[in-house]
Amino acid sequence: MQPQDPIETHFRLIPAQKTALKRLGVGTIADLLYHFPTRYEQAGVETNSRELVPGAKVTLFGTLSGLKAKKLWKSRRNITEGWFEDGTGRVRVMWFNQPYMASYVTEGAAVRISGAVGGKAEKPYIANPEVEKISALETAKGLFAEKNAVDITIEAKTPSMFPVYPESRGITSRWFYHALRKVFSTHILHHVEDPIPKETRSKLNLPDIATALVWIHAPEKTSHAEAARKRFSFEEMFALQVSRALLRVENDSEHAFSILDAAVHAERFLSALEYKATDAQRRAIAEIIADFGKPHPMARLLEGDVGSGKTLVAAATSYAVVNSRPPNRASGTLQVAYMAPTEILAQQHFESFIKYFKHLPIAIALMTGSGCKKFPSKLSPDKATDISRAQLLQWVASGEIAMVVGTHALIQKSVKFQHLAYAIVDEQHRFGTNQRKALICRTNAEQTRNIAEERDPLLYRDLTYRIREALFRVKKELGGGHKEVVYQRALAEEFSRSKLTFDREKRIPIKYHKKEVGIYQPDFVIEDKIVVELKALSFVGTTEKKQLWTYLKGSEYQLGLLVNFGHKELTIDRVIFNTARSSASVPHDVGVSSALVPHFLSMTATPIPRTLALTMYGDLDISVLDELPPGRGKVVTKIIEPSERESCYEKVREQLLEGRQAYVICPRIDEPDPAKINALQAKSAKAEAARLKKDIFPEFEIGLLHGGLKPKEKDVVMAAFSAGKIHILAATSVVEVGVNVPNATVILIEGAERFGLAQLHQLRGRVRRSSHPPYCYLLPEARGEVSMRRLKALEKSDDGFKLAEVDLETRGPGDLYGKQQWGISDLGMEALKNPRLIQAARTEAQGIVEQDASLAKHPALAQRIINVQAELHSE
Ligand code: ADP
Ligand code: MG
Repeated sequence: MQPQDPIETHFRLIPAQKTALKRLGVGTIADLLYHFPTRYEQAGVETNSRELVPGAKVTLFGTLSGLKAKKLWKSRRNITEGWFEDGTGRVRVMWFNQPYMASYVTEGAAVRISGAVGGKAEKPYIANPEVEKISALETAKGLFAEKNAVDITIEAKTPSMFPVYPESRGITSRWFYHALRKVFSTHILHHVEDPIPKETRSKLNLPDIATALVWIHAPEKTSHAEAARKRFSFEEMFALQVSRALLRVENDSEHAFSILDAAVHAERFLSALEYKATDAQRRAIAEIIADFGKPHPMARLLEGDVGSGKTLVAAATSYAVVNSRPPNRASGTLQVAYMAPTEILAQQHFESFIKYFKHLPIAIALMTGSGCKKFPSKLSPDKATDISRAQLLQWVASGEIAMVVGTHALIQKSVKFQHLAYAIVDEQHRFGTNQRKALICRTNAEQTRNIAEERDPLLYRDLTYRIREALFRVKKELGGGHKEVVYQRALAEEFSRSKLTFDREKRIPIKYHKKEVGIYQPDFVIEDKIVVELKALSFVGTTEKKQLWTYLKGSEYQLGLLVNFGHKELTIDRVIFNTARSSASVPHDVGVSSALVPHFLSMTATPIPRTLALTMYGDLDISVLDELPPGRGKVVTKIIEPSERESCYEKVREQLLEGRQAYVICPRIDEPDPAKINALQAKSAKAEAARLKKDIFPEFEIGLLHGGLKPKEKDVVMAAFSAGKIHILAATSVVEVGVNVPNATVILIEGAERFGLAQLHQLRGRVRRSSHPPYCYLLPEARGEVSMRRLKALEKSDDGFKLAEVDLETRGPGDLYGKQQWGISDLGMEALKNPRLIQAARTEAQGIVEQDASLAKHPALAQRIINVQAELHSE
């Protein structure tokens, strides 16, 4: 058994279990080991055999003895009887018509039984209890004897804590419990390499991986479980920090456009405004401009509460860029791309930038999935006009258009810029890390190679699976005991059948001081991407892996599979040489100017706790807008009791009569299928819109906005709302990000407890965009203690960052919100509550990356990072 083996190779699974495991993301033995219990069931005092109350359902841990099967002569029924014992006493147990019971458990074996207590208090018994053997722990005894680094011993005594795994239909905690025991009883823990370096572990007093895996799945005491959980939460944060530190190293090894006189341009832009930039805005602009002067591209996050004026910062700095010439050119300008998360926002920002830049002789374009626009129009120079996508692409590639605002449409392959110098992404957490890279790669027109794709070893994942399948088929057909060459031929056959192209003649020179001193010829190179090295040895270890790694280093390949057919079980080791961190980032087949990477600014209004910011944006420098433009009133926020609903509607009516507008937000409903999300959202917002029109506000115009509408339909609704033709906008949280209708000053949030605090705060920000007093009414559906505490925090505080901290604190385990949004596990979320742990993870990660940016000395860590990236990819 090997960590990377698919579960099916070692476990017989029924279809329901397969589906369940797939849903849980458990595909390999390693995944299984990393599928942690959420809690432990404790054998408590109330469940010992001395204190049994007839009628109670109990779970007891102990041993069975004296089991005998006999036949009741009257009813002719089978009965198995015996004793259950634990440290406190014993109780009679019996099973009817289960004659195999006596042979199922051996005398004195450790078991867990559960069932209902029968009989009288003085003479209780348990009939037909469920029995679970836990004697597998005995088999694990001495498992670590050979490995003296591990100082734990699992003794053959009754465990007192039982792991409870995240629930999923089709698979039980009991299955995991037994499966893991089977896994532990093999020698697999000898093969699991620790991604956390030893020095780090001893510095922070963390158990090593083998110990921690046992402790987390089969703890003997709470302190062990806690130590293991701490270790794995550290591991997750550490892996994230390492991957971020690597990104940073990569970023800093790139070259960027230098933007001359940026400060002068930005100053000119600011002085032309009718209002004064806030100090916070000035500070952020200065930080960005300082980055523009560095040789490597900027990688910066601009964090600022809703309404803090991030767009102005983006505009002032973009202004500096579109006023700069490309290197060695007498004409043309550098280009800016601004990516927004929705079409509505892209449209709004397009209009803002037109306003900001209309006195400049530059062209601005809008690119979305549903159409493209250009400003100025040839016919009317103060208007935008529709243009074809093909035309726009051409003008962007030729550099004629200096600034492009758009949605995801901006990162499609067909989009090429001539001199993309500055990429801005609004609300970047809505984009994956990947997409950010993709945007960076949309750089110059002549650049043909997509760097991120070539660089990313994860892209070989599918290919790896196909190769793996072929390997397993060969192993199954041939079994063991053959010579290496036999496996080679069989495999060649199998690869051809599976339509995998391979090369067996590839020769990789080994160089010494640039002189060729040898040749390495791998067994297979698959699809010109993966090196496969076959062995038929009784054992392959670090030496073989290290050797393959050295070969990879001398080649252009990054991934090697070391396969051994010689052992009873097929072993496949993934060996990675990561060139991405060193030189591969600059493709050699393109001109000098194309190697320039744009400066990157990510903007977010999602106030997140500092620990989370340091983790998720660990590769970015951070600027904060901690000040709102003057004259912004605090939003009056109020939780509405069910009895106050009518009077709340009256308050809304007052505002509407004064000429203001209102939002009514309906809760999002979590559903894994995005198509369904839209359907459900549409329904609730729709129903509410209809109800409001019919019963509450018949005299007002009510509009409807939700994710199920087509972009064009959304535009129509938003335009009508902006123009004041719609008075009340019933919507789902699609209005959460950045929608700007200053005259809307009331927001009413239905099912408020269903939203995260940060999200509520953002929604509330929608009504704080003018000098009219803003109101936010929260109408929770359920009034649990924790939800009310959260909503009260929102009533009290107007500080997004403070709310984010409250959000984190009140977040219970199993809360889906964080996991969904950030791709962090529950254990990881626990870690985020501990700033010292996060700081330690960061310091350790940076230390390692500083010394070993290729992670050559840390192969297990490199592998772990790939898993982290896999998770991020699914963002
Ligand atoms: P956000 O940070 O939420 O993206 P915006 O950039 O949309 O905020 O700005 C919100 C509003 O505040 C806009 O209408 C913008 O014109 C205005 N604004 C931005 N900066 C200032 C300022 N320094 N003084 C006055 N109003 C400002
Ligand atoms: Mg904004």
